Amino acid sequence: MKLNRRLFLGTGVAAAAALNAPVLLAAGHGKPRVVVIGGGAGGATAARYIAKDSKGEIDVTLVEPSRTYFTCFFSNLYLGGFKEIDDLGHNYGTLAAKYAINVVHDWAVDVDRDAKTVSLAGGSTLSYDKLILSPGIDFVDGAVEGWSLTSQNAMPHAYKGGSQTELLKAKIAAMPEGGIFAMVAPPNPFRCPPGPYERVSMVAHALKATNPTAKIIIADPKAKFSKQALFQEGWGDRYAGMIDWIGADFGGGNVSVDPDAMTVTIDGEVTQVDACNVIPAMKAGRIAEMAGVTDGNWAPVNAADMSSKTDADVHVLGDASQQGDMPKSGFSANSQAKVCANAVRGALTGSKVFPAKFSNTCWSLIDTDNGVKVGATYEATDEKIAKVDGFISTTGESAELRKATYEESEGWYAGITADMFS
Ligand SMILES: Cc1cc2nc3c(=O)[nH]c(=O)nc-3n(C[C@H](O)[C@H](O)[C@H](O)COP(=O)(O)OP(=O)(O)OC[C@H]3O[C@@H](n4cnc5c(N)ncnc54)[C@H](O)[C@@H]3O)c2cc1C
Repeated sequence: MKLNRRLFLGTGVAAAAALNAPVLLAAGHGKPRVVVIGGGAGGATAARYIAKDSKGEIDVTLVEPSRTYFTCFFSNLYLGGFKEIDDLGHNYGTLAAKYAINVVHDWAVDVDRDAKTVSLAGGSTLSYDKLILSPGIDFVDGAVEGWSLTSQNAMPHAYKGGSQTELLKAKIAAMPEGGIFAMVAPPNPFRCPPGPYERVSMVAHALKATNPTAKIIIADPKAKFSKQALFQEGWGDRYAGMIDWIGADFGGGNVSVDPDAMTVTIDGEVTQVDACNVIPAMKAGRIAEMAGVTDGNWAPVNAADMSSKTDADVHVLGDASQQGDMPKSGFSANSQAKVCANAVRGALTGSKVFPAKFSNTCWSLIDTDNGVKVGATYEATDEKIAKVDGFISTTGESAELRKATYEESEGWYAGITADMFS
């Protein structure tokens, strides 16, 4: 066959297309499109990595109602007086300006998986080739008798970042001398397993300075909790006589509250309290349920790429996912987001996909310069994200080691927020 210029150009383009073109360059709409719902630890990381690494080959839209994301991580340190609220706030300006991510400040209100579209509260509709859901948590209705979302002003949960945390801090500051702070702790599984107990430590730290005769009661539906020996050692050393933990074996799961009367009833005993933090049972953020990818509570995913077990074109990250052995943490969500971003980019552009590896560390501050940690590495198996090996601080560690652990957590915070937003 004689090659004329036209045919040569044609075959050249076809060859180039075969080598370079996006695998899923869907007919009629140019670049492949990724929509990410939720601009937190999982969603912001996933959007940033896909946009950054695909260098404009993929259209990335991030849907997040808030203009400022206040991290839950380090929010306990704000309660303890170690951070200001502004230290916890991050915005999306760099994601839009540096990586051309289309940041849409709105709520996603529906997902049509057949049409591959997301409806927004503002009325617009977004089409996707791949959808990433990282909406965090919502609370299980009726989980704590007497409490509902309408009670969150009287008895804050402070388990989503921002105003709830500020409200809880104000209530602690307003407690009368010798007053009582109560916490209703959540059942497993929940966001940040050491979170309630770090919070108790930080509340005790604040009260010790301003209101040292105050008392803290924790009603807990669990018989044991994360880093228990470390927290209880710290509470005994630093806050002796202040904290009463009532676990499941002592009726801690048999609890109701009355937000109007400000009472907490634990195993039949009614206590008048001055501040109360109710952290109800949790489930995946509601949009995951509306997308039809949950089992009623959490969204089961495949460990290799965080794709939903219901729909290969929907990925679920972070707290909302049911993935196996990883705790629900910001570190976990960030780690899962990078695995997901790599897989989504591979599926859409043919780029190399690396085997999934995950890691997590949860630091907690017990008192000034007294940090502890627990962490692990994980791999993807056919069944789940499976723990490979782990580590945990031990009781009786030196003050130097505890200080170094706290400083390590400061470095981690700077690193993860840069990995999400800069
Ligand atoms: C007190 C406390 C302390 C913690 N400390 C640590 C710690 O030290 N280390 C650590 O690793 N983790 C910590 N965590 C846990 C960590 O905050 C979460 O695990 C992490 O934020 C989960 O990330 P995510 O992306 O799943 O959800 P999030 O970070 O909560 O992000 C979800 C986002 O989705 C948005 N969203 C929800 N629904 C919609 C919708 N319909 N449309 C659009 N957007 C939507 C929300 O506005 C939100 O911004 C702590 C949590 C708490 C409560």
